Amino acid sequence: MPTDTLRHKGLRKGMINTLIKKVGITDEKVLNAMNSVPRHFFLDSSLDEIAYEDRALQIMYDQTISQPSTVAFQTQLLNVSPRMKVLEIGTGSGYQTAILQALDLRVYTIERHKGLYEKAEKMFKILNIHPQCFHGDGYKGLPGYAPFDRILVTCGAPQIPQDLLLQLKIGGLMVIPVGDKVQKMLRLTRVNEKEFQQEEFGNYTFVPMLENKTN
Ligand code: SAH
Repeated sequence: MPTDTLRHKGLRKGMINTLIKKVGITDEKVLNAMNSVPRHFFLDSSLDEIAYEDRALQIMYDQTISQPSTVAFQTQLLNVSPRMKVLEIGTGSGYQTAILQALDLRVYTIERHKGLYEKAEKMFKILNIHPQCFHGDGYKGLPGYAPFDRILVTCGAPQIPQDLLLQLKIGGLMVIPVGDKVQKMLRLTRVNEKEFQQEEFGNYTFVPMLENKTN
């Protein structure tokens, strides 16, 4: 069981203050959530020293835990209220999932990689948080649990997955990085049954969202 020392807490506070300056995160709820989750718990202990730098880091199977400022930015774009039902695609280390849990949301999360899915679940138990975890293909979403108030995609999608759009409530939002090598951060709002409004928020680089493959 990892520990959250005073040193880690200090580094985390420092990271959050840089976050505020760098990417303009102003939502107090998001900042508090970032402060409450020990990011180093989600990383190999050899990365302990750099867990609170603003950079993406390797987790298992060539995947990455997103940069903290990106996690904060995507979370702020989601514009959540307590108890909303949120679907996350790409559990990965589980760090972003834990941030969503800290915001008092009803979290559903899908990971295509069995090893990552299992490791994240173990960490959630240690932290005594209880998102609903699924091992499967995020392109399909979770039709049996839809509709969702919010959908957050944490891998780079070559295009917008239509199945996910249809699992949004009317008035619901999806935050998703879309593109091949570089992704545009998009926020889509479901205006009515058929119409979606789209906003763009700059370029990012995520690991790819892979189709029709679980391992
Ligand atoms: N939210 C994660 C980010 C992990 S990187 C974190 O905080 O650590 C993105 C993750 O998306 C990877 O773990 C990758 O395996 C997963 N992924 C890629 N394509 C997927 C798909 N089609 N369905 C579900 N997960 C997928």
